[in-house]
Amino acid sequence: MNLLSKNSLAVHLLRIIFGSYFLVTLIVTCLQLGAEYEHTQSGVDNELRAMDLTFGASLASSTWRFQGDVQKATLRGISNLPVVTGVKIEDPQGRLVMAQGNIVDHDGRQIHVDAEGQRSPVRTGFLNAATSHRFPILYRDEHGVTHDIGAWTVYSSRHVVIQKVAYGFTLILINSVIKTLVLWFIFLYVFNRWLGRPITRLSGFVRRQDLNRPDLPDSPQSIDLPGKKRHELHFLADAINAMLANLRSHTIQNRTLYAQLEQEKESLRALNKSLELRIAERTRDLAQANEQLRSLSLTDGLTGIANRRSFDDTLDQEWRRSVRHGKPLTVAFIDVDWFKPYNDHYGHVAGDAVLRQVAQTMRDTVCRAGETVARYGGEEFAVIAADTDGEQGVQIVQRMCDAIHALALPHAGSTLGRITISGGVASCIPAHPGARLESLLQAADAALYQAKTLGRNRVLLAPPFVSPPPSSPPSPA
Ligand code: GH3
Ligand code: MG
Ligand code: MG
Repeated sequence: MNLLSKNSLAVHLLRIIFGSYFLVTLIVTCLQLGAEYEHTQSGVDNELRAMDLTFGASLASSTWRFQGDVQKATLRGISNLPVVTGVKIEDPQGRLVMAQGNIVDHDGRQIHVDAEGQRSPVRTGFLNAATSHRFPILYRDEHGVTHDIGAWTVYSSRHVVIQKVAYGFTLILINSVIKTLVLWFIFLYVFNRWLGRPITRLSGFVRRQDLNRPDLPDSPQSIDLPGKKRHELHFLADAINAMLANLRSHTIQNRTLYAQLEQEKESLRALNKSLELRIAERTRDLAQANEQLRSLSLTDGLTGIANRRSFDDTLDQEWRRSVRHGKPLTVAFIDVDWFKPYNDHYGHVAGDAVLRQVAQTMRDTVCRAGETVARYGGEEFAVIAADTDGEQGVQIVQRMCDAIHALALPHAGSTLGRITISGGVASCIPAHPGARLESLLQAADAALYQAKTLGRNRVLLAPPFVSPPPSSPPSPA
């Protein structure tokens, strides 16, 4: 930083020190000036008072003898003295006889009397304020008798005193200014040499330090201030060197730690990624397993079609949907005819194979969404047909019956000589207030029983089983 710049410490200190110095000097000088003024004032007074001894006798003699020229010359001589601004002679009655320079007339006004006796007014003011001494003019004749023949007054003014003081004051001022300027330059030189330059070096050194790159070869590692005698700035430099060395070693440690941390972070990130992949894989496997489990729990192991639980769930859903939409729902029970004799004749394994074929054929027969074929238990099957009335239900089951018949699976124990099935169909509108699911199933079961009784290999529709709601009027007979 420039030594004389506005923000430099030297200028700041200079302002404080020399501001205080100037104030003190001003007060002391004013006091000195006051004392000097008083002293000069009394000196002027003494000089005026002493004039009677010098000029009194001459004036008395010239006045006694009426020697106007001598009087005039004497007055001019007095008025030319440096401390005198005016002089006048008055007769014993106080009338003005003769005057020279600035005097106060009989009426108390200041006037100027020139060499020709011309009078002109004098502007009164602070500087013109007059001080005077009045002396009687006493003449002693040859008989030793003293005569009072008038008085003379000598004038001086504040201006005279101030002029005298101003000289001394100017000397004091010059003295002070020279001393101050010399002190200024000494101060600036000393400050710059012992404080400014070392501080600037210290700040430049600290500013150049780059802790992010502590091992830079061209960056100085420490600072050493010149000087034989060590003082506070050397101690400060030592402290800065120690602090920077400390910071450098910490920075290097931190960088190593940071690099390790980054490595750890990277490996953690990789681990996290592989864990995420494994979790996703496991989740997918689990979802598949769940799906398989769910499917297994709803599938019949022997035939691969829906099992009894699936049938119950589907029936429950379709019942509620039909209630919501007010649509008919049809349920059918299907039973393989003379199956016990089949098992007895062909064996249980062959019976299982027939059950699989029957199930497969029945499933292939249904094609519409909303139609479900399930193994109800043993060699009994069930069909759910949503949004289907009884007649349509009979058609569906009849198609199954025909398809099984068409398989022509030999059955020695049957009167028909082949595997056949019988079906009982029941239908209702679940939204109807009297409709019950149990009643629907019972009706289908009863229809199946009826089909068996009537000779098997047939499909029967159960009569409508829902009684009219209690509030509706009885139907005509
Ligand atoms: P109907 O025409 O009156 O139905 O005569 P049916 O012989 O089929 O009579 P029933 O219903 O009493 O006989 C059912 C037989 O089905 C009994 C059992 O041996 C046989 N069965 C039940 N479940 C299985 C099975 O999973 N596999 C085999 N192979 N046979 C079964
Ligand atoms: Mg049976
Ligand atoms: Mg049977």
